[in-house]
Parts: sequence; structure tokens; C-alpha cells
Amino acid sequence: MSVPRDAAITIVGGGAVGAAAAYFLARDGRRDIQLLEARGVCEATSSQAAGLVGQARPTVDRARLTMAATQVYRDFERETGYSMDYRECGAVRLALSGTSVAELRQIAATAEVTGLPVEFLSDARLREIYPALERTESVKAALWSPTDGYLQPNSLVSAYLGAARDLGVTVATHAAVTGIEVRDGAVASFSTAAGTFRTEQLIIAAGPWSGALARLAGLELPVVPVLHEYFVTEPVPGWHADLPCLRVPEVQLYARGESDRVLCGGFENAGTSIDPRAVTATAALAARPDWEVLGQFAEAMSAFAPAVAGAGVAATFQGWPAFSPDGRFVVGPVSAVRGLVMAAGCNAHGVSGSAGLAMHLLESLTGDPSPYVRSLSPDRFIPRGWSWEDARREAQAVYENYYPMPVPS
Ligand SMILES: Cc1cc2nc3c(=O)[nH]c(=O)nc-3n(C[C@H](O)[C@H](O)[C@H](O)COP(=O)(O)OP(=O)(O)OC[C@H]3O[C@@H](n4cnc5c(N)ncnc54)[C@H](O)[C@@H]3O)c2cc1C
Repeated sequence: MSVPRDAAITIVGGGAVGAAAAYFLARDGRRDIQLLEARGVCEATSSQAAGLVGQARPTVDRARLTMAATQVYRDFERETGYSMDYRECGAVRLALSGTSVAELRQIAATAEVTGLPVEFLSDARLREIYPALERTESVKAALWSPTDGYLQPNSLVSAYLGAARDLGVTVATHAAVTGIEVRDGAVASFSTAAGTFRTEQLIIAAGPWSGALARLAGLELPVVPVLHEYFVTEPVPGWHADLPCLRVPEVQLYARGESDRVLCGGFENAGTSIDPRAVTATAALAARPDWEVLGQFAEAMSAFAPAVAGAGVAATFQGWPAFSPDGRFVVGPVSAVRGLVMAAGCNAHGVSGSAGLAMHLLESLTGDPSPYVRSLSPDRFIPRGWSWEDARREAQAVYENYYPMPVPS
């Protein structure tokens, strides 16, 4: 394992996003890259993720990006020798009302434009594909996306970092960045307990700590940690790892088989966030299960699979994914500080979106990014024309309305 050093490019954060950034930058031919991680790699938010990878999206930009990212996960082992354990089990999205059916139609129309195979299922076909869903009377429409799936976040991060190391990237763990020196408007160096080191480019990929890292460079960015959690049951008959991923946007619910167990989570209507100003670069962000919230997910799920109600909970997973007030990635160079680059604000899709975010990062560094990638720039929050209270409330609302629903017509 390496130690912090002088380097042309320094990436802060060894979760899914930092690891993806390291691999994509090295693959693009950039040299002298190091990644610094305060803990061990993939020990924070990424380690908690359910790993769902969904390509069916309401907008063409997002759908194309997630399709390209999914192709990366599919091909990674063949191209690099490292497996991300992507399991292409497909996904089913259920609509319980006319409004939600309209959303599925919108997604299907987008899929047609992007070439993603999707299909509306009859009730009989839904039961054939998803026999573990015993109660489907409330389902008004079901959209099947056979090339979706899920991956194991730990495998994802190890695979990116294995391939990045093969391309010369060094990785230093237990190396918390505690200071960033900006001289003449540019990043000059950073500090850790091991000393101060020069760097030309510092990429902040520190998940919920990203705002705190930006503050070390004198910037205020609204990256808001919001609590998210799910549970995994004891074994439930009929459930297995190849069942499709399930999403029920109306009740903000998702589930999948985790071996012979049920993994079930959701996005509750009253989220819990942390004031980003209270998060420091070395803060420990503790997360405990909220049994009331997990109970709501179990109840919603048992409307489709009653066996879930009686199954014991074997494990819970929770963490603080970072949300932005407009629900978009915060990615690209910061104009106010030369050499400072953000790769943050994943809005709870930093695992499935890691390859996409890294692609945006590369594009943002070309000097001529597309209007879409430009729109993700951290510059949209600088200078500060927003209040911390509003930013926190809006970011939390993005969480609470995670599954977008069209306005009823
Ligand atoms: C319960 C749960 C379920 C989820 N399910 C999914 C899912 O199904 N699909 C999906 O795509 N996403 C999911 N997410 C969201 C996903 O986990 C995050 O979007 C993603 O992990 C963000 O990755 P990251 O690398 O930005 O952050 P992290 O994984 O938090 O990595 C940031 C790293 O920066 C390090 N760091 C912090 N400060 C410093 C410092 N000062 N110096 C050096 N290093 C530092 C941290 O130690 C940490 O390892 C889920 C999240 C949770 C909590």
C-alpha cells in the first residue's frame, strides 16, 4: 500500500466515485495519479449500497449515460481481468395509478429513442418473470427492462482500483486530507498527518464529506448528506439472486433477491439530513437503523409479497449519500480555484452512476464539454446565491421525491 506523495493529480476519496475517477483518468492516458482515502477503500457510503443498476430513465441524456455505464460494468472483467460482479437479472417497474402508468410510458418512449429493450408485461407474464410477487391486483402496468441488474459495490471499487493500479495509479489508505493550500488562485498542496504534498489537480470525490473538503479550499458548496437505508431479511421461500430488481415508484420502494433473502429499501417521505456545515473533513458520520422507516418499507413490500411481513430481519444497511439541491451531479473544475475539481453530489446513484460520473468528469476536463456536462459544473453554486437552509431543504426534497412522477394530466 502506498503513502501520500507529490503527484500531478490527487483524488480524495476511495469510494465508488473516487475509484471510477482514478480508473477513467488513467485509462485516458493521464499520468502521475494518486488516490487518498481516509479510511480503507470502500468502507463508507459505497459499502452500504444495494448496487441496483437501472437504465430505464425518463430523459434521453440520463438513459444514454446509464446505458453506457452499464456497458462498462458488463465488459469490465473482459477488458481488465477484474470482475464487478454485475448480475444482469433484469428489472421490473410497477405502476399503481394512471399517473405512474404515464411515467412508464414516458420511460418506454425514451427507451425506444436510446435503443434500450423494454416491454410492458401482462399480469400472467409478470407472475412468470417474478413468481415471488404473489399479490399483483393493484398493479396497473409493469415495465420489464431485461438488461438491467445489480452489482456488488465492494467488487466494483476493487475492480476499478485493481485496473487503475495496473495503469500506475497509487492508492494510499488511512490518509485523511486535513488541509488544502490555495496559492495565487490555484491549488498548490494538500496536507495529511504524513506531511504536506504538492499537487497540480485535486479531485474531491469524498461523498458526504465533499462539501467539507471544498471548504478546506475556501469554497461553499451545498453537498447535503441524507440518511438512506434498507434491510435484508432472513431466507424467504421463492426468493433468489436472479429475480429481477423491483421498483414501485408510487410507494418509493425497491427490492431485489439477495441470495435466498429479500433486500428491501425505499425513500421515505420525511427524510433525515445533516447540516453540511456541521460535517468536517475528518468527521465520523454515524448511521443507525430507523426501525420505523424500515417497518414502512416492509409493510409496503408485503402488499406484493406477504411473506416479507413475517420474515425476520437479518441485516440493515445505512449511510449518508450526498444530495445536491437540484438533484444533479456536482462535477467538473471549479473556475474560482484552478486545479480544484469536484466529483460529488451523486444523489444516491453514485454506485450505478460511478462510470457515468467519471465519463462526465473526463469530459469536463477537456475544455469543451457538452452543454449538459457544463450544466453539472460546481460553478452553478458559486458565488453563493443560495442559503444553507434552503439548500438543505431542497436537497432533502430530492431524496424524498427520488422516483420522479409526471404531473397528472
Ligand atoms: C443504504 C444505501 C443504499 C444505496 N443503494 C444504492 C444503489 O442501489 N445504487 C446506487 O447507485 N447507489 C446507491 N446508494 C448511494 C451510493 O452508495 C452513493 O451514491 C455512493 O456510494 C457515493 O460514492 P462516493 O465514492 O461518492 O462516496 P463514499 O463511498 O462515501 O466515498 C467517499 C470516500 O471519501 C473518503 N473521505 C472522506 N473525507 C476524506 C478526507 N478528508 N481525506 C481522504 N478521504 C476522505 C471517505 O472515507 C469515503 O471512503 C446507496 C446508499 C446507501 C447509504
